[in-house]
Amino acid sequence: METVAPFLEIITEIKQAGAKSYGLCYQCGKCDTVCPWNKVRVFSIRKVIREATFGLTEVEGEDIWRCSTCGKCTSQCPREVNQIELGVSLRKIASEYGVFPAPVRGVRAARGSLTTDGNPLGEDRSKRADWAKGLQVKPYTEDMEVLYFVGCYLSYDPRMKKVAVATVDILNKAGVKFGILGNRESCCGESIRKTGGEEVFRTLAKGNIKTFIDAGVKKILVSSPHCYHTFKNEYPEFMVNFEVIHMSQFISELIDEGRLKIKGQYARKVTYHDPCYLGRHNGVYDEPRQVLKSVAGLELVEMRDNRQNSLCCGGGGGRIWMDTPKNERFSDLRLEQANETGAEVLATCCPYCITNFEDSRLGMDDGGPEIKDITEIIQEVV
Ligand code: SF4
Ligand code: SF4
Repeated sequence: METVAPFLEIITEIKQAGAKSYGLCYQCGKCDTVCPWNKVRVFSIRKVIREATFGLTEVEGEDIWRCSTCGKCTSQCPREVNQIELGVSLRKIASEYGVFPAPVRGVRAARGSLTTDGNPLGEDRSKRADWAKGLQVKPYTEDMEVLYFVGCYLSYDPRMKKVAVATVDILNKAGVKFGILGNRESCCGESIRKTGGEEVFRTLAKGNIKTFIDAGVKKILVSSPHCYHTFKNEYPEFMVNFEVIHMSQFISELIDEGRLKIKGQYARKVTYHDPCYLGRHNGVYDEPRQVLKSVAGLELVEMRDNRQNSLCCGGGGGRIWMDTPKNERFSDLRLEQANETGAEVLATCCPYCITNFEDSRLGMDDGGPEIKDITEIIQEVV
């Protein structure tokens, strides 16, 4: 049964939940002016913060689940409030009390399947490496250059498996010695942590870390900016430090070192979407653009909101598992921005962005631009 905790108890719990920016906000409202929610509906993170400080009396239950952790407000706040951390604290408490409004119930399902099978998609752990059957992919061994950490969506989702195949194709063409963990790999845990699922995150992280150490892993290649973020910035909380590289950075390196040769042409107009967890959260803006610019014939154009100002696709912070009404999807707005540039292709390099954009594209009258991961474009020209 759903219960509501008394407010003093909740405030004490927020403080205990480690929200370091508790009490810093002076209510200037800058966060609300930059938050993408205000392009689609009325929502105030400023109000959520005020309520988190003085008592949750006005905020609607669903509001604490809205933040996609895009990082835009965090990067602009004059008081260095960490809105994401405060929001996660509230979600942690709501989860403890079993308060999941209907559109958020997917989070509960994701937690269940992460606990039993190490992925949020309700898939069997034993099938994690099925996408690689018949391909030149080996189990990781210590003498290899990199461990390719495939991630959940690229392992199981039919659209995203194509990106895993493109990645393997590129690595083999460049002569990279790489291997995968197969069903020893578990979700990195980044997104479930942002839903307040701290215990599930810690279990997943400890499991992966043990596997990396046992396998002698030193360098990890990832396709998802969410894996990148958590391995680079959150796993060190467990006193480990693995070298992590995102596929867009690795391709850029392989081209620079002359290991990967671009042979074909790609005579299309392309615009690039910065995923929040690669761009704003980790400052990787140049390498994906350099990779695209290295392709002959490809014309790269920028959208209105780019780099630090990139518009979130709406999939971070566990929103990928929550229901968002059609008229409230940031990804629809992003596709409109891509259309304004006249681009034929919207390129990016994040499984959540691709999933949301493909979904938005289905609802467009003219089909909108084609959605491609950078690796899929490079696969066509090497
Ligand atoms: S921008 Fe920072 S100080 Fe201003 S209302 Fe938002 S959280 Fe508070
Ligand atoms: S992190 Fe992004 S979605 Fe969340 S409140 Fe801030 S601007 Fe809005």
